[in-house]
Amino acid sequence: MPNKTSDLEYVISAALQDAGGPLTLETLLERFGAIDDPRWVGVALMHLRRDGVIRYATCDADHNHGGLCAVELLK
Ligand SMILES: [Zn+2]
Repeated sequence: MPNKTSDLEYVISAALQDAGGPLTLETLLERFGAIDDPRWVGVALMHLRRDGVIRYATCDADHNHGGLCAVELLK
């Protein structure tokens, strides 16, 4: 289980790097949610955010993120 999440964290970071800008949750779920339970994508995003790798690009604080919310790499 931990491996699955860190694999996803890796591919999501790589996708954001390739994109060179923000990607929406919808895009990330389309691309990676099909690999397995889409909830793993959410867990991976939570870890990436906790670790300071990504941030939500355009979100207000404390709202419920939806498909059109976008994340981007912090550096
Ligand atoms: Zn949001």
